[in-house]
Amino acid sequence: MASEERPRNLAQYKRFHTNDEGRKTVTSVEQIKVESSIERIYDRYEQLAALDPTLPKLYRGDHARYLQSSLERLSSSYECLDSSRPWMVYWVLNAASILNMRFSHELLDRVVDFLVKCRAKGGGFGGGPGQDPHLATTYAAVNSLCIIGTEKALEAIDRHTLKQFFWSVRESNGAFRMHIGGELDVRGAYCAISSAKLCSFSPEDERQLFEGTAAWIAECQTYEGGFGGAPDLEAHGGYSFCAAAAIMLLGGEHKLDLYALLRWTLNRQLAYEGGFQGRTNKLVDGCYSFWQGALVPIVQGLIARKEGQQHIMDVSLFNRYAVQEYILICCQRPNGGLIDKPGKPADIYHTCYTLSGLAVAQHCETHSLPLVLGDERNEVLPTHPVHNIPPKAALDAYRYFSAINRHPLRRNEAIGKQHEVPMDDSSENVSERQSSSQMSEDSSSNYSSSRASES
Ligand SMILES: [Zn+2]
Repeated sequence: MASEERPRNLAQYKRFHTNDEGRKTVTSVEQIKVESSIERIYDRYEQLAALDPTLPKLYRGDHARYLQSSLERLSSSYECLDSSRPWMVYWVLNAASILNMRFSHELLDRVVDFLVKCRAKGGGFGGGPGQDPHLATTYAAVNSLCIIGTEKALEAIDRHTLKQFFWSVRESNGAFRMHIGGELDVRGAYCAISSAKLCSFSPEDERQLFEGTAAWIAECQTYEGGFGGAPDLEAHGGYSFCAAAAIMLLGGEHKLDLYALLRWTLNRQLAYEGGFQGRTNKLVDGCYSFWQGALVPIVQGLIARKEGQQHIMDVSLFNRYAVQEYILICCQRPNGGLIDKPGKPADIYHTCYTLSGLAVAQHCETHSLPLVLGDERNEVLPTHPVHNIPPKAALDAYRYFSAINRHPLRRNEAIGKQHEVPMDDSSENVSERQSSSQMSEDSSSNYSSSRASES
């Protein structure tokens, strides 16, 4: 339980160093190298913390400045991501939401105009203006527009052609290709169902579109317990998240070996580093704080739903302080942005997912007080573990489109308006923590049956 959790004694944890028993492999050499770089950082931190008891600190203001400048202009190193531009928008907007940082109406309006340019005629969103639609960039664009949450933003989603696009990438067995003629993997199913839920597709549309999808996802579970991208591939944190989050939205948990999935996920938390790895025998990486960290409460939620035992949600099964130690001590660049591991440069993908992991570690026990490492100013806002957008943004979008389904002529109900708030370092905004407890009131039964989908 939260009350019994304590930050680790990092010196004692050194006994969990990797022991290669004298047999070096490429993997063990890399692992030992990463552990020693992290050991230097933890050793230095312990000395500094003896001088300054407010450590570790979240560099909120530096990250806010980094995100503000990233939304307006990116360095040329992002050129290779030209076909992922809605992703870049989403990473910045979601990271900013977690820090409770808001952008000006004018800037957000320009973002909506840009995403409209990425919308494809045949439905869905491409990676940039004029590019073919793709399920991943569609997911990123839909999430971004839901985060912005204005009527203009939500109306930028054309649900009619979006549905046509989903049908164009759907296979007869319920699996989804990432784009027409593209690769078939579990990300496709997750991106489609996540967007369909936020846009409140009708139950009949959902039933037809996702018939067979849960059974196909179940085929992607491996002997390790995690999920590969497609049947017979290696278990991987990102794909496992997509699989479990999709099943949370679709139902079908009885088709999975949930305890094997839970065991695999929990064993991806590394004993000394404190963060998570993406696959067995791989290195720690800040972004898996979310992919694996959010997977834990989702799987607990699936078990609770399958067994009708809500109390399964009452314990945290991973070391939530250890993840925060890794993120706050090892993954922050002092001039803003978060990173994969020490020595790596900051980028907006890792800034988004490492902060999302911090949010999950602090808030995944929704009925307890947040568990915050260090000063209370380190507290960030919760994120929805299934959609990874602010929980209230998910609820507002769902309500907006549900209201249109009921009354097609009244299109402006339940819109969360964005307000311009200056960036600052203050922690006051933490008290505005969004409550998502109403999620279960008027969302579909798939939302309401687990707290994992509410937090
Ligand atoms: Zn990463």
